[in-house]
Amino acid sequence: MTQQTQGSRLEIHGVHKNFGDFSALRDINLTIEPGELVCFLGPSGCGKTTLLRIIAGLEQQSAGQLLQGNDDISLKPPKDRDFGIVFQSYALFPNMTVTANIAYGLHSVGTPKARIRERVAELLEMIGLAEHARKYPAQLSGGQQQRVALARALAPSPGLLLLDEPLSALDAKVRHHLRSEIRSLQKQLGVTTIMVTHDQEEALAMADRVVVMNNGVIEQVGTPLEIYQQPQSAFVAEFIGAMNFIDSAPLNGQRVMVGNRAVDVVRPLPEGKGGVRLAIRPEDVHLLPSGDGDWEGRVEAMDYLGAFIRTQVRLTDVALDLVVDVDPRSARQLELAVGNRICLHLPSDALHCFAA
Ligand code: ATP
Repeated sequence: MTQQTQGSRLEIHGVHKNFGDFSALRDINLTIEPGELVCFLGPSGCGKTTLLRIIAGLEQQSAGQLLQGNDDISLKPPKDRDFGIVFQSYALFPNMTVTANIAYGLHSVGTPKARIRERVAELLEMIGLAEHARKYPAQLSGGQQQRVALARALAPSPGLLLLDEPLSALDAKVRHHLRSEIRSLQKQLGVTTIMVTHDQEEALAMADRVVVMNNGVIEQVGTPLEIYQQPQSAFVAEFIGAMNFIDSAPLNGQRVMVGNRAVDVVRPLPEGKGGVRLAIRPEDVHLLPSGDGDWEGRVEAMDYLGAFIRTQVRLTDVALDLVVDVDPRSARQLELAVGNRICLHLPSDALHCFAA
């Protein structure tokens, strides 16, 4: 059956990268465990591709150390490192068949012919393209080409699989399908995998852990649930999922002032005497029939999105619009309609607190 590769452990210590005067990465420290799938997620220009390229040896870090297993790879050229890589643009050899593309990396390390045939057949089976073995890349769809690129990267059983936005050139349906395919293949093989993406949904759906990057630094590392439920900075809170922000001033203990009203919070307040930015997810705000809640508001807009109604509510007491996701089944009881009055409850334990 399919060969179980032994995924590498990867340690990144104090990596910096400068391009001239520009500092693209600052003090990157991260350990990735064997068999883990980690996503580097962040806005354009945050440094995620540069970090992936440093791990591959395609870019040289300005400072810092990288260990793969017990091997210090900091100064090794790409050819002496143990990884497979897949790029956004499939980058297959156009003049070679699917079989020859997949076999390419095995020939170059001198694998015996019989073993190559066996391995290629095994990989074709895994990616579900056995009938397409003799085709050329131009005869395949984008999703099929990307599967071939994946098989080519995995053929030599690397300890590390690097994926640079591998799904972003594909249409939504193929992308969703390949997401789960890559994920199950990766788990089956146990290969340690790093995927660069700017698509938060993709990162949350696929990763064991997400590394959120911004402006050359790591903002937070955590499981998808941790990143979503316990964002450690306003940047992460805003970048992942939808979030409402509410400016407030510290009052005393676990209380802050929003407008002229005191609000209790449960989560720790930021250090210092400055303002506090409260944050709450649209699904955490409760709507109540008019007259029943702590905050009064008026429904400004409603978008029916199937599973929920994304509702915009303008508060009466403070100049603030909140986005609230409402279960369509409670819309009637709430008399939810644009222009109607509504009440809101902001549960204390759902309020995140960041420094302003
Ligand atoms: P994207 O999603 O747009 O690819 P990214 O997060 O992958 O963004 P990088 O490609 O890692 O970002 O680039 C990080 C920063 O470093 C950017 O500001 C980019 O302009 C800069 N940069 C990258 N490569 C070079 C280079 N060879 N020379 C100069 N600046 C570079």
